[in-house]
Amino acid sequence: MGIIDTHAHVYDVSAYSDTVGLINNLKEFGVTNVLLPSTNLDDDIHIRKLVSLDSRLFSPMIGIHPDHIDHSYKSKVSEIEKYLMNYDYIGIGEIGLDYYNNHDNIKEQKLFLDMVLDIAISAKLPVSIHSRNSFEDVYNTLSKKNGISGVIHCFTGDLSEARRYIDLGFYLGIGGILTFKKSRLKDVLVKIPLSYIVLETDSPFLSPEPVRGSINTPCNLVYIVDYLARLYNVDRDEVINCTSENARNIFKIN
Ligand SMILES: [Zn+2]
Repeated sequence: MGIIDTHAHVYDVSAYSDTVGLINNLKEFGVTNVLLPSTNLDDDIHIRKLVSLDSRLFSPMIGIHPDHIDHSYKSKVSEIEKYLMNYDYIGIGEIGLDYYNNHDNIKEQKLFLDMVLDIAISAKLPVSIHSRNSFEDVYNTLSKKNGISGVIHCFTGDLSEARRYIDLGFYLGIGGILTFKKSRLKDVLVKIPLSYIVLETDSPFLSPEPVRGSINTPCNLVYIVDYLARLYNVDRDEVINCTSENARNIFKIN
């Protein structure tokens, strides 16, 4: 089985000018699927362009990052519904709550998340959840929704948060932060079975050690695979097979 990156923004043209080179590298590194969440609706055209180049490798999602939510959130919800009617998306994301950057739009963030989760439930699509400094509100919102599933993108919480998300049926998206020297994520993960983890890069951000600071690509998941293999004391194939099986189940990838 190949490596699946469940969250990458490799359609960002300012970071990735050589698309053909990127696709070749992904194949060389054994990356078989890259899921592409949008951060705002303008990303969609770039995402579709990549998907049109290789629709087995790339799978699109549609969503709006909480930093981009404002008073017009209701019309954004209707726009997302229209996008879903006109194109096949593998999930809804990224969506969520971010109290780190922007404190002016928290009310709108919450209202938008609530509405868009209902759309995900009725469309039977999994979600890619962004949560920063907002665990309690994200958890409470998700726990009120029946039939929602997906990934907590870039999970960095503590053990109790990890277990509470897992109890809701969510998986933890793990990438570069795991390898950062100051990160305590490894101490949390070692107590969480691999069967609740999926891989992700959040490319172009969060490159892992030893390539931290460079533009990230899904190829760098090999470092995360190595790290997890050492952490769980299993071989690399087991990490790849288990995390990719999880991703296949969540996003219904054949
Ligand atoms: Zn992202």
